Amino acid sequence: MSFSELGLHADLLRAVTAQGYTEPTPIQRQAIPVVLEGRDMLASAQTGTGKTAGFTLPMLQRLNNTGKRPGKRQVRALVLTPTRELAAQVGESVSSYGQHLALRSHIIFGGVGQQPQIDALKAGLDVLVATPGRLLDLHQQGHVDLSCVEILVLDEADRMLDMGFIHDIKRLLRLVPKKRQNLLFSATFSNEIQTLAQQLLDNPAMIEVAPRNATADKIEQAIYRVDREKKRELLAHLIQQHGWFQVLVFTRTKHGANRLAEQLSKQDIPSMAIHGNKSQGARTRALTAFKSGDLQVLVATDIAARGLDINELPHVVNFDLPNVAEDYVHRIGRTGRAGSDGEAVSLVCVDEDALLGNIERLIKQKLPKHIEPGFEPDPSIKPEPIENGRRNQRQPRAKRKPEGQSANTGGERKRRARR
Ligand code: AMP
Repeated sequence: MSFSELGLHADLLRAVTAQGYTEPTPIQRQAIPVVLEGRDMLASAQTGTGKTAGFTLPMLQRLNNTGKRPGKRQVRALVLTPTRELAAQVGESVSSYGQHLALRSHIIFGGVGQQPQIDALKAGLDVLVATPGRLLDLHQQGHVDLSCVEILVLDEADRMLDMGFIHDIKRLLRLVPKKRQNLLFSATFSNEIQTLAQQLLDNPAMIEVAPRNATADKIEQAIYRVDREKKRELLAHLIQQHGWFQVLVFTRTKHGANRLAEQLSKQDIPSMAIHGNKSQGARTRALTAFKSGDLQVLVATDIAARGLDINELPHVVNFDLPNVAEDYVHRIGRTGRAGSDGEAVSLVCVDEDALLGNIERLIKQKLPKHIEPGFEPDPSIKPEPIENGRRNQRQPRAKRKPEGQSANTGGERKRRARR
């Protein structure tokens, strides 16, 4: 099937061809006709499936068809994303797919100056891509009018809920017209997502594309058993011994990410950390250097890595196992796609046995265990509770704290500071 058979406008087809896409991905084949029809949609699709073009192309077409109303441009499509990176990526997609259309778009997120965003809103926009916090801040200051929104997209809705954005989303829902088209994207369908979907969607088309599969033969998975205090040394050893480049390393906490990146850099392995406390500039620099191959190692927390357009990596390392088994699948799905081979290595200490068991049950396979000579685990070491997370169970989402935040740091203050 080709893009033109999906009923897209010639100007959009030109932009798609310029991107080098020859045929639509499964999510695009399913989503584009539904969105063009004007229906609500609930889609289960993760980053890497082509979901952004799946909603952006038909959304732009609909806006282009109805055309701008007389007077100042009003926001007619609002896309909400959990993270700045995802907002930036969706915003880029909107600009590049819409390059031949007379539509205006802008991206709004925290951590950067407000004035250019206020100026763009004043000048008038058709499409607004935003993270909820900054959008609400600007609304409170009287800079945002959402009363003409025709299409609302919640991208990575599960992450938005995980990050505690439910109240912000509810507040934003009160600012948009009741009659509108709603598109909800989520990688998982928890009870909270189903409740949100019921409140938000009207007779939605349900679309599901196969999640990135942990059992994909292209991904070679390995467990290295090692003592908790020896993990860093083992990681440096593996990177140097095998000459790994472009290694995406996952840690459980922001603090752990910083510390690891610093220590690896000291060992002549150029590394940077990326997480919610880093300035936007620092995150963009790290990502650019990593993508271009200048930076050997990028250390990330799950939330920071989520939505990043860094796929098909040769090496993903779980420095810490994730608390939530599904996150293992998301993490290793970064590697070995589109025909390239990938390797996913997990460093597992005695504290993480229960987490490993959960992962193996989820992916329905036993993972091969290795012990690297010189890094043999000491059998006398007893398991300890895992820092910032439960050992074998996920916390109820509503009570989960924002990423990497310890009990004494003042949640709301910190979350606001991130906006
Ligand atoms: P997404 O899931 O939206 O984050 O997209 C993942 C990646 O796939 C992005 O780098 C897109 O540029 C790319 N992509 C999207 N649609 C297609 C397509 N039809 N053919 C090839 N690549 C695509």
